[in-house]
Amino acid sequence: MNFGSFAAHAADVEAESADLDVVALVTDLFLEADDDLAVVARFVQGRVFPAHAETKLDIGPRLCYEALARAAGTNVTADDVEGRLAETGDVGEVAASLDLGGQAGLAAFGNNGNDGSGASGLSVRAVYEKLTALANATGDGSQDEKVTLLFGLFNQCSSEEARYLARLVLGEMRIGVGEGTVRDAIAEAFDVPVEAVERALQVSNDYGLVAATAREEGVEGIDAMHLEVGRPVQAMLAQAGTVTSALDDWGEAAVETKFDGARVQVHWDGEDVALYSRNMEDVTAALPELVEFVENNVEPPVILDGEAVAVADDGTPLPFQEILTRFRRKHDVEAMREEVAVELNAFDCLHAGVPTSHEDSSARQTPADGGEDLLDEPFRERHARLESVVDDESAVSDVLFSEDPDEIAAFDERALESGHEGIMLKDPDAAYTPGNRGKNWLKRKPDVETLDLVVTGAEWGEGRRASFLGTFLLSARAADGETGDASGSTERFKTIGKVATGITDEELAELTELLEPYVRTEDGQEVDIEPAVVFEVGYEEIQASPTYSSGYALRFPRFVTVREDKEPGDADTLNRVERLADSQR
Ligand code: AMP
Repeated sequence: MNFGSFAAHAADVEAESADLDVVALVTDLFLEADDDLAVVARFVQGRVFPAHAETKLDIGPRLCYEALARAAGTNVTADDVEGRLAETGDVGEVAASLDLGGQAGLAAFGNNGNDGSGASGLSVRAVYEKLTALANATGDGSQDEKVTLLFGLFNQCSSEEARYLARLVLGEMRIGVGEGTVRDAIAEAFDVPVEAVERALQVSNDYGLVAATAREEGVEGIDAMHLEVGRPVQAMLAQAGTVTSALDDWGEAAVETKFDGARVQVHWDGEDVALYSRNMEDVTAALPELVEFVENNVEPPVILDGEAVAVADDGTPLPFQEILTRFRRKHDVEAMREEVAVELNAFDCLHAGVPTSHEDSSARQTPADGGEDLLDEPFRERHARLESVVDDESAVSDVLFSEDPDEIAAFDERALESGHEGIMLKDPDAAYTPGNRGKNWLKRKPDVETLDLVVTGAEWGEGRRASFLGTFLLSARAADGETGDASGSTERFKTIGKVATGITDEELAELTELLEPYVRTEDGQEVDIEPAVVFEVGYEEIQASPTYSSGYALRFPRFVTVREDKEPGDADTLNRVERLADSQR
C-alpha cells in the first residue's frame, strides 16, 4: 500500500466523529491494505510494533524535531519546529506545514524531489522497514543514525504523509481509532465474529497478526490462535470495590492478600524463563533470583501472573520503591540482589501443561508445547492449577473462598497486620480477561472516613467467646449541638448498626471489662448499655435502612479503636451521617 493512501485514509478517519462510520472507514482501509495489512492494523492505532514486541521505536521528541528540521531545509532549526509546536500543539500540523523534501544530494535516501504536496511514492512497507532499522540502531552514534534515517523518510514525504508519519513516530496518532475500533473493523472486513477477534487479540496481543489471520484463514484461523510461552499477555486489572458489593454480586468471593510490589508475568517453557512487567517490558535480566526460583520449582510449560515483592531479611515486605529499583536495574544486578531480595507471589495461571487426567478432554491444547490455555477457566480452577504447577507453596498467594464478611474482615486484618496493602476480591467463577479493568477483580477500598459512635447495646458471644461481649450496637447523636445525657437516656442516640469485626480476642476481653459497668438490662444474649463509651468505627458505605432508628445502616462496619478522649456528647451526629451518606452519591 502506498503511504500516501494510508495518510488519506487516516485523514478521513480523523474527520469522522461517529463511531460506526469510523469503523466503516477503517474497514475500507483494511480491505485495501493488501500485503501490508498487519502493519496498517498497527499504524492506524499509532503503533509500529506489536505491544509485546521487544523492538521499541524509542524516538524522543527532540530527535523527531531534528529530523523534521533537516528535511525542511537550512532555514529551519529543531528549535523552530519546537516553537511552532508550542503554538499548534500538534506535531502532525507542524510537519504538514513545513516545506519538506528536495534537499540536495539526497539520492541515497530515495528523495524523489516531491514538492511537498500529493503522494510521494513512499510505501507503507518502506516506512515500516526504515522504522525497524531505526529501532534496531544501537550503540555509539546511533542517535545520529536515527536522525538520519528519519530525516530520509520525512524528506520523501508529502505534507499529508509527514503529518501522519510525525504523529506515528511520536506515538501521537490520535485519529480516534482505539482497540475496539480495530477489533470491530477486523470482524467487519473479514466477516468473522467480533467475539472471536476479541479472544484472538487477548491471546496474541497482536492486532496485525489477528487481522492477517482473519483475512487468510477466517474464523478457524483466529480460533486456533493460542497463548505462546514467551509472548507476554496484557495483565488483567482491578477496580476499586467493596466486600459488600463483591458478596452481593457473586455470593462468594475469592480473597487474597494485595501485595505491594510490581506485577510480573512468568513464562517458562522448560528451556528459558522470561519475566515481563505490567507493561510487558522484558525484566528477566533484572530478577535472577526469580528466574532461578522458577527453573527449580515450577513445572513447564507455564505462564503465571503474580506480584514480585521486595523483602527484608526477616521476610517482611519492603516498600514498593524497593522493588521498582530492582526492576529498573540494568547493571550490577548481582550486587543489588544482596541488598534487596525479591520474592514471587504468584496469583494466577494462564497456561499450563495438560494434566494426565485431562489429556483427551482438552480441545484447547496447543500442539507446540503440549500445554493448554486457561484464560476461559474460572479463577477457582486456574488457582488450583497454579497450586499444582508450583511446588513451593510459599510462592503461591493464599486464597480464601468465603461468603462471610466477618471471615473476610479477619483476613483483611491479618493482611494489614503483616504489612501488606490490603486485600483483593475476585469472582471465583470469572475468566481471565487480559487488559480488562472489569468488575471481576476488586481491590478493596480502604475505609475513607471513620465515625465516632456511642455503644448503646451489645450481645454476648458464643462458644469460645461466650464470656465476652462480642457484638456492639452503635448509635449516633440525634442532632448537632446536643450534649450527652448524663441520665443515660438513649433517646438522644439513634442506632445505626452493629460492629463485630476488627476486634481481637484480647480486645474483646478489654471491651467487656470496659462496658460491663454500664450494662442496664439483659435479655438472653442481648444487653442494653448506658451510653458512656465511644468507638471509632470504619465502614464501606452508609445505606438508608429501616432496621435502625437512625434510618441508616453501616455496611461492613469495623472496629478501629475506643475513643478514650471522647464522651458520648462528643460522638458524631446524625447530621454528619446524613452528609456522609449524601456525599457517597
Ligand atoms: P492497583 O495497582 O492499585 O490498580 O492494584 C492492582 C495491582 O495490584 C495489580 O496490577 C497487581 O500488580 C497488584 N496485586 C497485588 N496483589 C495482587 C493479587 N493478589 N491479585 C491481583 N493483583 C495483585
